[in-house]
Amino acid sequence: MLGTMMDYPLTINHILWRLERLFPRKPVVTQRLEEGQATRSSYGEVAARVHRLASALSRAGIRPGDRVATFAWNTQTHLECYFAIPCMGAVMHTLNIRLFPAQLEYIVNHAEDKAVFLDRSLVPAFEPLIGKVPTVQLVVLMNEGPEPSAAFREAFPQVVDYEEFLRSGDEHFAWPRIDERQAAAMCYTSGTTGNPKGVVYTHRSTVLHSLVAALPDSMGLSERDVVMYAVPMFHANAWGIPYAAALVGASQVFPNRYLDAERLVNLIEREGVTVSAGVPTIWIPILDLLEKTGRKLPTLKRVICGGSAAPPALIAGLAQHGIQLIHAWGMTETSPLGSLCRMRSWLDDLPDDQKLAVRSTQGTIVPLVECRIVDLESGQELPWDGKSVGELQVRGPYITGTYYNDPAASEKFMDGWLRTGDVATIDPDGYIRLVDRTKDLVKSGGEWISSVEVENHLMAHPKVLEAAVIGLPHPRWQERPVAAVVPRPEHKDDITAEELREFLAQRVAKWWLPDEFVFVPEVPKTSVGKFDKKVLREQLAQVAQRWAQS
Ligand code: ADP
Repeated sequence: MLGTMMDYPLTINHILWRLERLFPRKPVVTQRLEEGQATRSSYGEVAARVHRLASALSRAGIRPGDRVATFAWNTQTHLECYFAIPCMGAVMHTLNIRLFPAQLEYIVNHAEDKAVFLDRSLVPAFEPLIGKVPTVQLVVLMNEGPEPSAAFREAFPQVVDYEEFLRSGDEHFAWPRIDERQAAAMCYTSGTTGNPKGVVYTHRSTVLHSLVAALPDSMGLSERDVVMYAVPMFHANAWGIPYAAALVGASQVFPNRYLDAERLVNLIEREGVTVSAGVPTIWIPILDLLEKTGRKLPTLKRVICGGSAAPPALIAGLAQHGIQLIHAWGMTETSPLGSLCRMRSWLDDLPDDQKLAVRSTQGTIVPLVECRIVDLESGQELPWDGKSVGELQVRGPYITGTYYNDPAASEKFMDGWLRTGDVATIDPDGYIRLVDRTKDLVKSGGEWISSVEVENHLMAHPKVLEAAVIGLPHPRWQERPVAAVVPRPEHKDDITAEELREFLAQRVAKWWLPDEFVFVPEVPKTSVGKFDKKVLREQLAQVAQRWAQS
């Protein structure tokens, strides 16, 4: 027997409807080039512009299902693209602005993007694609920056200014009826091995993800919040926050391209930001700045931090400033919120150090998603005992079930589960502790060493700002760990490998101690701000050569 409920589609158009009808007065603020200057708008204005944009796209020949790319920083106009493109039936394809030209060329051609919304300041990064992306018919130039050259304008059939493009559209656009399973947005994973892989979100997956992201025990978003994400809008749809914040009517503050600690702190202070989000390498320098200057951020209550493991020292440090760091795990493939760390009521009486240990886990799986861990060799499912280590696998309505046009996709799936490539334990309360990425585990003498755990301990040392641990080939042990350490500037001349080794020896097994500590001015980062261990392995290759010769 079927139920009597309406078969009403879950679409992003509904989020747009709420934003327009319920929250038109709520502010939308974008940081401008000049420090202290901002463009101020509202959801009401954004919604009106979204109508015009959708209509203009339709007049320009964009049809349902067409891919429309963005190549842009975090701004109001990017938010307008987030709504207009999927709500008129096209597919928003956020391009990672930090990729190499060859990767970008592959991605634009693979997705067959028909149009690109391009920030003026990013034209130089897009120029190498001239003549190599034949599907691109329309380039719309957004935001501040120098005008592109005549050669650039001639390289594409149509190049137009964003505001002029908006004027070509109607104030009221008749939204098409959209099937909730239709593609809404797509995002390519950076693909550390092989070519990047395309993940395509549906309207339905986006709405479900937004609801879950906003829940009190998730990001806990409310109409009363002022949200500023320091996650690029090309990184897994800024973790879904633009839609989740709009759904509940929270104001949005856009940092634009200014992601350094000083400017972010200024913006949080000026705009009264209450919730923010970003990878650990965004928060480490912010904590450092707060500590050095004694500045306070009284409005900021919560930061969602993920993308790579949040060091316990960072969690404890921010807590001292009244800022709760909520550790989250996810992947482009999981929309991306997969798990999130909230303290369960029955753990309230734990001593502080054990609470910090819980807060440092990647938390529990989010509603609507199921998880399991599977033995790396036998493929057997493992118990949730907090000890058994296996590959984390997930399934649910906003987990990708395949990759876009990719025949090699099947190896990433197993009996209807997505293989995350992450290695984890799960404890009886469901807290997931990520041990490592499969490819980053250090394999020493037939045993595993968690690079993440060693890094976390190192980053708790008072003289250490950042630390990344990698395994390098070793003639006797297969691999041995090496630590790249960035000292705090005031300790760059008095930090020693001996003291770090001693500090670690009290915290990890002896054979986990890195064979070498290399002091570096910075750890190389990936396009989304994670430690780039591939590049680090290349940079430290001479250590392995030395071992091979000794
Ligand atoms: P990329 O491969 O470009 O990093 P994603 O952003 O999709 O692409 O990265 C997903 C991966 O990031 C996860 O599989 C996991 O390895 C890592 N990750 C995400 N969040 C965390 C976290 N909180 N702790 C440790 N690793 C994390």
